[in-house]
Amino acid sequence: MEKQYADIIVDISHEKLDKPFQYRVPERLREILEPGMCVNVPFGNANKLIKGYVVGISDRCKFDPARTKDIAGIVQKDVGVEDKMIELAAWIKRNYGSTMIQALKTVLPVRKSVKKLEHKRIEVLMNREELISLLGECERKKQTAKARLLKALLEQEEIPYEWITGKLGISAATVNSLEKAGALRVVITEGYRNPVKLQINPEERKALSKEQSHIVEEVLKDFDNGNRGTYLIHGITGSGKTEVYMQLIEEVVSRDKQAIVLIPEIALTYQTLLRFYKRFGERVSVMNSTLSAGEKYDQCERAKKGEIDVIIGPRSALFTPFPNIGLIVIDEEHEGSYKSEGTPKYHARETAVEVARLHNASVILGSATPSMESYYRASEGEYRLFSLTERLTGGTLPRVHTVDLREELKAGNRSIFSRKLQELLVERLQRGEQSMLFLNRRGYAGFISCRACGQVMKCPHCDVSLSEHTDGRLVCHYCGYAEPRPRVCPECGSKYISGFKAGTQQIEEKLKEMFPGVRTLRMDADTTKTKDSYEAILSAFSNGEADVLIGTQMIVKGHDFPKVTLVGVLAADLSLGVGDYRSGERTFQLLTQAVGRAGRGELPGEAVIQTYQPEHYAVVHAANQDYISFYEEEILYREMLDYPPAAHMLAVQIYASVEENGKQLAQRLADVVKSMIDVSQPVADRITVIGPAPASIGKVNDIFRFVFYVKHQKYDMLVQIKDKLEEKLQFWQPRYETVQFDFDPMNTL
Ligand code: ADP
Ligand code: ZN
Ligand code: ZN
Repeated sequence: MEKQYADIIVDISHEKLDKPFQYRVPERLREILEPGMCVNVPFGNANKLIKGYVVGISDRCKFDPARTKDIAGIVQKDVGVEDKMIELAAWIKRNYGSTMIQALKTVLPVRKSVKKLEHKRIEVLMNREELISLLGECERKKQTAKARLLKALLEQEEIPYEWITGKLGISAATVNSLEKAGALRVVITEGYRNPVKLQINPEERKALSKEQSHIVEEVLKDFDNGNRGTYLIHGITGSGKTEVYMQLIEEVVSRDKQAIVLIPEIALTYQTLLRFYKRFGERVSVMNSTLSAGEKYDQCERAKKGEIDVIIGPRSALFTPFPNIGLIVIDEEHEGSYKSEGTPKYHARETAVEVARLHNASVILGSATPSMESYYRASEGEYRLFSLTERLTGGTLPRVHTVDLREELKAGNRSIFSRKLQELLVERLQRGEQSMLFLNRRGYAGFISCRACGQVMKCPHCDVSLSEHTDGRLVCHYCGYAEPRPRVCPECGSKYISGFKAGTQQIEEKLKEMFPGVRTLRMDADTTKTKDSYEAILSAFSNGEADVLIGTQMIVKGHDFPKVTLVGVLAADLSLGVGDYRSGERTFQLLTQAVGRAGRGELPGEAVIQTYQPEHYAVVHAANQDYISFYEEEILYREMLDYPPAAHMLAVQIYASVEENGKQLAQRLADVVKSMIDVSQPVADRITVIGPAPASIGKVNDIFRFVFYVKHQKYDMLVQIKDKLEEKLQFWQPRYETVQFDFDPMNTL
């Protein structure tokens, strides 16, 4: 393709991103012009020269060639925030596969005309004694929501309204009734300001342990010597990682730089936020999905102007336009939510390293169960590894019992609770201690099948199993299709059709059958649909409103529950059998986190892992809470089969409304890659192509999905392959099919 024309954006604001102007590329620039470059172009009737950014290049003129103007020249980059963001977008485009526009939309704040901003907050009106006595009264009357709010006000005299209704899960009615009672008042202010005014609390700063100060000193030493690196802190929950982050942030901020803290959305709890606010006061701000586009834009403006030093938020907070970033922290770095699901499918961890490069900043990764990627890079010397080995909150590691479910069946126990788990549950109920039951439910859940012929009821549009709902219907979780539950098997007519694996709802029912009067709370996709009901369930459990909390992977994250002394993992294998190269890693992480939930307080804890594969290394090492042994076995498997992080993998996904067309396009694209294989090279250096094949979920919403995988030792080779495929696609111009790229995919389902 000859680079004759370029699409140029002259004003980096969201509304205009979709309307680039086309310019002609003068001969002398054709070799060098790339998307992401900053150029001068004549604009308007007066042809005034203005700055613009190249977002696309083509060999076709979309308008009247006679009226298309020439690019005046390439502008040398200055070091403005905007240029860094554009450079970052170009990097994302190149490394993850997307258009420049998609990449820009990912990194640039959405400009929304913000109406006059109102900030509501709650201020306490009573003194401490009055508050405590009112709290006592509410607790006696079992007014738990009121009690929750009063407790929060005891900790914090001013609280942003959004936190109350959001993070604390308290209704406006509760706030009103406490306002009537004279306990508090709702204050409304205008304009942007921090959600809350806080007194910085000097005693919040802990004297660091030896292990902690070692990390802080080493990182700072590097920092002040001008060496900015990536550091991995491996330390169990409660080992003081957050304290280390905060100390380092303070140091970096005192050097006139800013810090970004990434936390998975689900762990962004009221407690965590409060901790940062108490430490950094007005200079910290939060970015999360409950903020409106206008509020997000506001936060970005404040960051640009230097009104804040620290931002906390999920993945997208990485793109906060700070002028001079010194430190990026990624807590729970192994979390899958750091990878974007939409195009560009960027990974926040790798992207953070690039942001850090652009700003000359350092990156700190922290986790109790580091991702294979990070630990591998640490062992290769690319990242520096630190460990925190002591738990500072007290508590001992729980005693773990692994139960073989096959043995249970042999012994005639057909219940979903093993005999050991039943025994331990009874003990807790008698002693008034709390338990958590965790259903490791990835992949197919709640589906029904025929006991006679094995037929599974599936969605006619999506090729996934239908889930049974309490109202008796079978529902597809991908497209929403629903049908009445059949009485007899549509295949063989047998009437023995039933649910195959229990969902959280059935577990709750069975538990109540077995232990009449047991108080339960349930946390799953159904009970957490409304905004922040998640937090409300956690606080209710934390306040002792239930004996048993039943839930999916959501319950293994976030909050600490000191009164939990038993954790039951009901079916450890459900996530092992999903046929994905990361399933061992994911199972290990989930089991380790789940087991680690027991015995956080003064009382010792126990855990039961129920499984059909008690000898699987992910189960064995999780039961022992032994990350390093798990890593050593897992990395052998990845190395043997050339899976990331030992090698790199690119998934090319083809979506088509006509099955045959999708299949053909997938084949043509795979053939292009196969033609790039250089047989003169040693096998180890060659490209490997797997597929194409229908994706394991072959159809969603009547769109057919095909996929093939390309593996190679070098990431850059995969980037070249992606570029080649993009070039072909631009030439072929498929009209009804779309293609997406996923580098080092998080799952291959
Ligand atoms: P992590 O982030 O690894 O889960 P935290 O930083 O949250 O660990 O620390 C766990 C608990 O220990 C917190 O309550 C914290 O206040 C406390 N803590 C952390 N560091 C220290 C320290 N040096 N001295 C005393 N308590 C500490
Ligand atoms: Zn049947
Ligand atoms: Zn469907």
